[in-house]
Amino acid sequence: MKLEGLSILGQTRVTTAGKPNAAINPATGAVIGPDFFWATTADVDAAAQFAAKAFVEFSRWPGRRREGFLKRIAELLEADAAAIVERANQETGLPVARLQGELARTYVQMRQYGEAAASGLCAGARIDHADPNRKPQPKPDLRSMMVPLGPVVVFSASNFPLAYSVAGGDTASALAAGCPVIVKPHQGHLGTSELVALVVQQAVRDCGAPEGIFSMLYGAGREVGIALVKHPLVKAVGFTGSRAGGRALMDAAAARPEPIPVYAEMGSINPVFMLSGALNHKAEELAAGLHGSVTLGVGQFCTNPGLIFVERAAAAKSFLQKLENLTASTPPGTMLTADLCSAYRAGVEKFSKATGVHRAVTVDAEAGEGKAQAGAALFVTDAVTFLGNHSLMDEVFGPSTLVVECSSREQMLAAAKKLEGQLTATIHGTPEDFAASRELIETLANKAGRLVCNAFPTGVEVCHAMTHGGPYPATSDGRSTSVGTRAIERFVRPVCFQNFPDAALPDELKESNPLGIWRLVDGKLARAATPS
Ligand code: NAP
Repeated sequence: MKLEGLSILGQTRVTTAGKPNAAINPATGAVIGPDFFWATTADVDAAAQFAAKAFVEFSRWPGRRREGFLKRIAELLEADAAAIVERANQETGLPVARLQGELARTYVQMRQYGEAAASGLCAGARIDHADPNRKPQPKPDLRSMMVPLGPVVVFSASNFPLAYSVAGGDTASALAAGCPVIVKPHQGHLGTSELVALVVQQAVRDCGAPEGIFSMLYGAGREVGIALVKHPLVKAVGFTGSRAGGRALMDAAAARPEPIPVYAEMGSINPVFMLSGALNHKAEELAAGLHGSVTLGVGQFCTNPGLIFVERAAAAKSFLQKLENLTASTPPGTMLTADLCSAYRAGVEKFSKATGVHRAVTVDAEAGEGKAQAGAALFVTDAVTFLGNHSLMDEVFGPSTLVVECSSREQMLAAAKKLEGQLTATIHGTPEDFAASRELIETLANKAGRLVCNAFPTGVEVCHAMTHGGPYPATSDGRSTSVGTRAIERFVRPVCFQNFPDAALPDELKESNPLGIWRLVDGKLARAATPS
């Protein structure tokens, strides 16, 4: 596939002539061709109009047909895997093996969300039959289902150039729900975005889908991105990135004459609680596991553990010593972009200067030709300092972590109560530790979307039960997840039909269940036709 550096509008290319923009290899700083051109606000309007038109037909597609479309995207991604991975490797500095794994996750996600559409999980059909004899009032026939919201704008993530980008989790969720998608790609992987967008464009053709169901517009977030969010035909937004970026989109969406939901996944420092029993049992093993999690992918995971609470224990010192040794011997790594690396360096510098914070290790790294080389860092403080300095909860995106030494379980609990909303919270403990930590567990369940026991938070399984979300500021809406089939629920809304004749109902709600989907009929899950 030949890259042209042009936005995609349905089956056509946007040929706007403007200032060219470059894709950069973060390892070398070299420009990788071709030139990329930003879309205009006229292109934004065209994409939104096109998507709204396509929505009329696409929203009528039964789940099984949507599944076929998502599966076709997966097949085509698999067929072009080598070229996509090669380009992503050049643009992000992520190793080939990691990108191959991420691409495999991308097709698994497409297929899984497709299956959720076909099985009826997305439709969430519920039927409560009428009871004309009920006293004192007869009960009406009530049938409800989830219907798609309309065109969705997806802002790609920088740190998952495949699985949370152009054909990533947000796009898969929106398409599975029956919503057209307009992607605002991340500037960190412009060519990868084009390759993947061409695959989706091909799948649209192959499946005879209305062409406006997918467009991708290159541009700056503050211009093209905000114009998309403000467009009256856009009905929801998916985003992964910084708190400042997510907040800007939330504010723009809320200020519209018709406010729309923004599902923004933003920063999280993913606290880990090391309880005394676990420390005394396997201090060095815990240090090695933690170090692996903190430095995985040069620390560029939203589930990276940035804050570690260590309970007073005989083995706490050897835990810390091992963590220091491992951190000190970590080779520097290439970050996704020079900008992310300079933000990381600024964060490390800020923590280095914080009163009461001890810089245990910082691995020196020359910024290198691409200005994106980062070294690992480990900071240590005590719970009193942590409790007195809110800025120690700021995310430092990269391979850095802050250890907080706690003199008692009560102090640990006080620190847990002070935390902001998180994607994850992790506890390491023995059965005795857990038995004595009920309040800590309850506190963390109120703070985080996923609680991890005796493992590490990096590594997010794509499955039905996953929650990758959490109260603000981890996300804009703690009632949602951006990973797993429940992510589809972000882009649908319930509609109830009261006393409708069967022939006038959508197929999902007809008595004979012609689609053979799962439904909640008079309170019981059923897949068969409802008994007449
Ligand atoms: P970002 O700066 O938030 O950018 C993400 C996307 O949002 C880009 O497309 C960007 O457009 C757009 N955007 C940013 N600010 C905007 C604004 N005010 N108005 C409209 N659009 C806006 O995120 P990033 O580039 O991926 O990384 C920056 C920081 O985000 C990192 O240092 C890290 O702290 C955090 N981050 C967090 C996660 C996570 O999973 N929690 C993941 C990645 C990054 P442009 O193309 O104009 O830049």
